[in-house]
Amino acid sequence: MNSSRCAACKHLRRRCPSDCIFSPYFPSNNPQRFAFVHKIYGASNVGKILQDLPVNLRSKAADTLCYEASRRIEDPVYGVVRELTNLDEEIQKAHCQLARIRAQIAVIQARDEVDNVNNPNFFPPQNDVSNSTSFNYDLSAWFD
Ligand SMILES: [Zn+2]
Repeated sequence: MNSSRCAACKHLRRRCPSDCIFSPYFPSNNPQRFAFVHKIYGASNVGKILQDLPVNLRSKAADTLCYEASRRIEDPVYGVVRELTNLDEEIQKAHCQLARIRAQIAVIQARDEVDNVNNPNFFPPQNDVSNSTSFNYDLSAWFD
């Protein structure tokens, strides 16, 4: 037996060919990685999935298959769906919290506008050109 076999070929107890489809994605130093995907999807299906993908996508596909398989082994009923559901709930909570904070900001801004409108010093006196050319603003209320 060749000791440089990939994890898949070691697991399947076969010779690892030079063009082994598993070899780049299931290195011999991580046998658990292939054990997970083999248990959930089967070696033949994983090989077909990798073979049908462009080479640049195979690494991510292998990572995804491994992750989903490990979650399925950990939680046989829901697998990765439980995690997705939990994340979706967190997103919904964050959206609600954001909407609540935006509403609070709108209320505070509306109160400020009402306070400013009710403040007699908010609006400067109309400029009466016929009587005077100077303006008299009372800005003291703005700086307390
Ligand atoms: Zn191999």
